[in-house]
Amino acid sequence: MPATIIDGAALAAEVKRDAKRRVQELTAAGRPVHLTAILVGSTAAGELYASRQAEACRAAGISYDLLPLPAETSFAEVAGTIRCLNNEPSVTGIMLHLPLPPHLDATEVQYLIDPVKDVEGVNPANIGYVVYGHTLIAPCTAQATIELIRSTGVTIRGAEAVVVGASEIVGKPVALLLAEQMATVTLCHIATRDLKLHTQRADILVVAVGKAGLITADHVKEGAVIIDIGINRVTLPDGTKKTVGDVDFEAVRQKVAYITPVPGGVGPMTVAMLLKNTLRSAELGLKR
Ligand code: NAP
Repeated sequence: MPATIIDGAALAAEVKRDAKRRVQELTAAGRPVHLTAILVGSTAAGELYASRQAEACRAAGISYDLLPLPAETSFAEVAGTIRCLNNEPSVTGIMLHLPLPPHLDATEVQYLIDPVKDVEGVNPANIGYVVYGHTLIAPCTAQATIELIRSTGVTIRGAEAVVVGASEIVGKPVALLLAEQMATVTLCHIATRDLKLHTQRADILVVAVGKAGLITADHVKEGAVIIDIGINRVTLPDGTKKTVGDVDFEAVRQKVAYITPVPGGVGPMTVAMLLKNTLRSAELGLKR
């Protein structure tokens, strides 16, 4: 029997509904939730992402503003802006659009964001809290991945979980969160000698690489849960373009128990997690 498709859009709608209700409660109590996003150097992709984000925030009752800075802004100027936002009580959450211009180091800049206001969970302190098992705010895509796995009802504790792709923002945090949930975690990366050897024994397989067709039916175990984070634009034989993940969806779905589609899986849940984190930042701020 083909896999059950994990409906990320439907799950995301639920998360957004809950977030909206709580945002309304906070607003009614005189504690509005406000997210400021910083965009250094304007790109078409950055602006499009920012406008989608603004729309999602407004729909959840979160006020949002975008702070565009010129591409040549120095580290000291960006740092000054972030310090101001950290100290501004009406700003309950801060996020930084990536990529930054080449003269700015993303980690150094993220390090400056107050961990409580860090809605993307990218400050090293927040990653550290995940390591210590006291998660404050986790990176959105990693958190989305855990929620999607949980939605299947499959037990994470004790499961063989394999993560393919080891970036700081996606693969590594996913591996950490799975380890926090007591899965036995293998993190595969570019230097992994025999990828199949690992993926074939995964009860839970998470793929975050950015290579269409990387994971075929041969790579997966029957009955596994597959979370496909990859996003790739491919050109079909008839010349049309299509967005696909890293997993050969049609072939793999015949073999596994649960699979996320691309689009409609991790993507919408990641946006929902950003809203959830924005709310969490505001709530954490109240405890100070
Ligand atoms: P990234 O920074 O490029 O990281 C990709 C990782 O995969 C790197 O660790 C890379 O290693 C590794 N890798 C490359 N080829 C590999 C292979 N053949 N086998 C195993 N590992 C390999 O990308 P990212 O930011 O983590 O994103 C990964 C994918 O997820 C992209 O397609 C991105 O668009 C997508 N994404 C989706 C969402 C969403 O909301 N759905 C959110 C974030 C990202 P090296 O660096 O050593 O080459």
